[in-house]
Amino acid sequence: MYIVMLGAPGTGKGTVGDLLSKELGIVHISSGEIFRNYIKKHNKLGQEIENYITEGKLVPDELAIQLIEKRLNEPDTKNGAILDGFPRTENQAVVLDGILKAKQEKINIAVDLNLPDEEIIDRIVKRRTCPNTECREIYNIDFKPPKVDGICDKCGTKLIKRIDDNEKTVKQRLETYHEISEGLIKYYKNQDILYTVKLNNKSDLTTKDIVEEIKAYLENK
Ligand code: ATP
Ligand code: MG
Repeated sequence: MYIVMLGAPGTGKGTVGDLLSKELGIVHISSGEIFRNYIKKHNKLGQEIENYITEGKLVPDELAIQLIEKRLNEPDTKNGAILDGFPRTENQAVVLDGILKAKQEKINIAVDLNLPDEEIIDRIVKRRTCPNTECREIYNIDFKPPKVDGICDKCGTKLIKRIDDNEKTVKQRLETYHEISEGLIKYYKNQDILYTVKLNNKSDLTTKDIVEEIKAYLENK
């Protein structure tokens, strides 16, 4: 089964994707995380990626596609994958359909998490992330603070603020997102696999509720 997580930055693609991955037993692949791991290598490719990310711009399609295709050929994707952050452009969506078709697979659902921009900015500047790749727990200093300030509850690693989680970059990321998301959403709507979840910071929809909704959709499809 293949699940695509759409939605602007900070809408919960990572958190929902992680829980879905546990419940469905399929691997969660985050394109942003793949890129951040390249940045850590401190080589030319990593530097190039870092420049795009800190400017809130997209990594060029060709590079994004190349790295995701490589990831989708790893053995842990044999039961499918939850794709978080990919595809990001209509071109990437078309290429992904081709990659899956060659595996005799297809996307079962494209989940669009929807949250107003003002709330996104507030969420993201208060977001802290566990950099341990085995853990990756996400916190919010307001509504999901760690028990000990700055330390991950789950693994004890020092929490970080992502290089792109500042107000200026977030605004650019949102602009980039709005420019391209419409086409992508239409693309999946036309395939009749789009599932939209309307959120706001006051809504009492928990991550678990969203996951249950998605599972119900998949069962009834
Ligand atoms: P969130 O804040 O919820 O994690 P995000 O979409 O802002 O969402 P990531 O998905 O982690 O964050 O992506 C971080 C950055 O990596 C993006 O701003 C972009 O520069 C780059 N990126 C990620 N996925 C792609 C992609 N499919 N194509 C091109 N660039 C990408
Ligand atoms: Mg993410």
